[in-house]
Amino acid sequence: MRVYVRFGTSHGDVRLARFKRVLLAAQNVYGYRKYLRAAGLANPDAVTSLGAVEPVLPLLPITDIGEFRNSPAEFENASAFPPGPQPFLNPLRCAPRTAVLMHGFQQTQSVKYIPPDWTLLTRFRPEAVAASVGVLRMLAKGIAGGRGRLPSLQFAMIAFTGSWAGGLLQEEDRDLFWRVFQLPVFEQHLGPDGRVVAWECEAHRGLHLLPTRAVLEELDHRHLLVTSLTDLRRPAVRLRTRLAGTIAGGNCPCGETSPKLLELRNAVDSAEREDLPTAASA
Ligand SMILES: [Zn+2]
Repeated sequence: MRVYVRFGTSHGDVRLARFKRVLLAAQNVYGYRKYLRAAGLANPDAVTSLGAVEPVLPLLPITDIGEFRNSPAEFENASAFPPGPQPFLNPLRCAPRTAVLMHGFQQTQSVKYIPPDWTLLTRFRPEAVAASVGVLRMLAKGIAGGRGRLPSLQFAMIAFTGSWAGGLLQEEDRDLFWRVFQLPVFEQHLGPDGRVVAWECEAHRGLHLLPTRAVLEELDHRHLLVTSLTDLRRPAVRLRTRLAGTIAGGNCPCGETSPKLLELRNAVDSAEREDLPTAASA
């Protein structure tokens, strides 16, 4: 088994500190305890003395995301609070009046949470809308079917993607959104706790990773593993997502240098996943 990990170095200290906090939280989680013991990471001193993230990763078990989701009690650290609201990551250089149709984001003068309701949305007169790709599909189909209008839109649509957000942004979604909204679409991929872990910039050449929010690993070119660096209540350590993608170097025309996630797609079928070790089988 080969694990490919690439990451930015500019936030290395924050990233390592958060990784340690997640492992300390994982020590309180039944689902990880025996694997941490086997890795020599069962006591706080062993974790606080770690000097890097990458060498530790192969020592940790891989947990299937379905097991993580279906056994909430086994992966809960009752001594921690759930993560608070996250700041909205605006992909534009300007700050349009943005309706965010999803809970969990900080509100500002220009960014407001609006429930997915035509009346409330129209009254807010959004210049940009951020919503799960599933909700954006409903909006687009509603407008195309004459059931609503959003004439104030003039900047962008932001599509949150992931298993919790209606899946991935497919080419047909981009076609639909362009046909209906005639605005650029920016994808923002959510991690296990709903935090944005990768985002699309104005160059539209893949998704920039946020190295202080999550560790993404590309496993055998077939599977993405994610370790959240932000959730201490439900520590997500090396979750095997049902997604695949390529992690590549930065050097984006937008000026960002963080690595990118390219060709994000649904992973191969479950039969091919059978040969991978999991926490349950390790
Ligand atoms: Zn970029």
